[in-house]
Amino acid sequence: MNYSALVLDIEGTVCPISFVKDALFPYFVEKVPVIVQNIEQQSKVIRDIISQFNIDDKDALTKHILDLVAADIKDPILKQLQGYIWAEGYSSGEIKAPVYPDAVALIRRHDNVYIYSSGSVKAQKLLFGHVADSDGKSINMNGEIKGYFDINTSGAKVDASSYTNILKDIKMEKTPEKVLFLSDNPKELDAAKKAGLITGLAIRDGNAPVPNIDEYISYKDYSTL
Ligand SMILES: [Mg+2]
Repeated sequence: MNYSALVLDIEGTVCPISFVKDALFPYFVEKVPVIVQNIEQQSKVIRDIISQFNIDDKDALTKHILDLVAADIKDPILKQLQGYIWAEGYSSGEIKAPVYPDAVALIRRHDNVYIYSSGSVKAQKLLFGHVADSDGKSINMNGEIKGYFDINTSGAKVDASSYTNILKDIKMEKTPEKVLFLSDNPKELDAAKKAGLITGLAIRDGNAPVPNIDEYISYKDYSTL
């Protein structure tokens, strides 16, 4: 069927679920000690963010930041620092987003592609701004995506009302059955279905197994979409 718009999840759908855990987090953990030890040479933005931790001793400061990461504490200063360090990593080319080639092709084939992820809109734009190319370079796909939504713009991904909000924003509230939402998470698909969207379950290496998989239309790749 021809969809008028696609709404795509990111992790486990257009790129491996392990990207954040196995690439972004280790990158940050590797950079923190170097940045803290050489704090005097850092940009004002980084010095300002780090000064908010209010810890002068460099070893104690490093330990504090890494402890927050290890305990997965949603600390706003930590989030700011991570966002900044990842942005630098993307722009230096040290981090590239491993978007699946068939997901790149899917995005390019459709005119109205939107992203809905629990990662911030800012992080989503960075990711699609630095997509790994087959020749080792990175490509900017921001121009090929019509809009980005996150839990701040639209609500939790397991709530039907979030998908209703997105339908309104993309002016598809009258024809939700022409909008396809792809995700690896069945709870998100159930919520989108309640809002009237058509749903597709992404089956990719590393994704959590779905017990009631037969209840969904599943896709191992997106070549038919
Ligand atoms: Mg996902």
